Amino acid sequence: MLMHRIDEFKNTKLPVVEIFQSISGEGISAGYIVTFVRIGGCNLRCSYCDTVYSHEEASCANLWLTPEEIYERVAALGCRDILCTGGEPLELNKAKRYLPLFLASKGLRVRIETNGSCPVYSDEEIRAFCGALFPELYYVLDVKCPSSGFHKSTIFEENYVSLRKGDEIKFVVGHKDDIEYSFDIIDRYKDIFSSKKVVINFSTVFNKMEPAELVEILKEKQRYFTQNNLKVRLSLQLHKFIWNPELRGV
Ligand code: SF4
Repeated sequence: MLMHRIDEFKNTKLPVVEIFQSISGEGISAGYIVTFVRIGGCNLRCSYCDTVYSHEEASCANLWLTPEEIYERVAALGCRDILCTGGEPLELNKAKRYLPLFLASKGLRVRIETNGSCPVYSDEEIRAFCGALFPELYYVLDVKCPSSGFHKSTIFEENYVSLRKGDEIKFVVGHKDDIEYSFDIIDRYKDIFSSKKVVINFSTVFNKMEPAELVEILKEKQRYFTQNNLKVRLSLQLHKFIWNPELRGV
């Protein structure tokens, strides 16, 4: 794995799709005002992707900014809560992997939305990058389901072991097979999710499954969730209900 140190990293140009402030639309941060940093390039191509414009690192629409320049833009917006998203922020062997860590090392509270196919930071990697400092970092870890077309890309054990209180996982479901797949994963890793108090979010593929149907399925499973001390919740993409679902930068 390519390891970076903060001093070497500072002057590297990174592909930035957009930086803007809005409410967080999903997960446990939903409804809070955050600054989004959307980084370019993704190693997956999910069937339902709603940020296709972020797939390519080399897109001429991307801004190429150093981490310091990104920090300056973020700091100017005045919000301490940052959502690093993409694309995929944690792709291996790419300098952009270290941007969330860099922003967190500046004292920002950073939540990383990752597609689950790349390893989250190890303690060793954090220490190598920014010394003994353990910054405020949280993960929203996607568990890709069959309808994404990339469920075989998800890495489980490696990532789940590193999750901590305040982290969350997300299942985006479009049909019954996705639900069954999600419940199998939850059953397999329930002890980890329960002991680490990981929040489990269920979301629907927009316009593919009715949220009401998903609520009924979650209600049917409630006894199991309670018995296993699992925190399971519905998480709809708020921004798609507030604004035109096609709108960017909101
Ligand atoms: S991982 Fe996210 S950005 Fe990448 S293709 Fe899937 S939905 Fe789109």
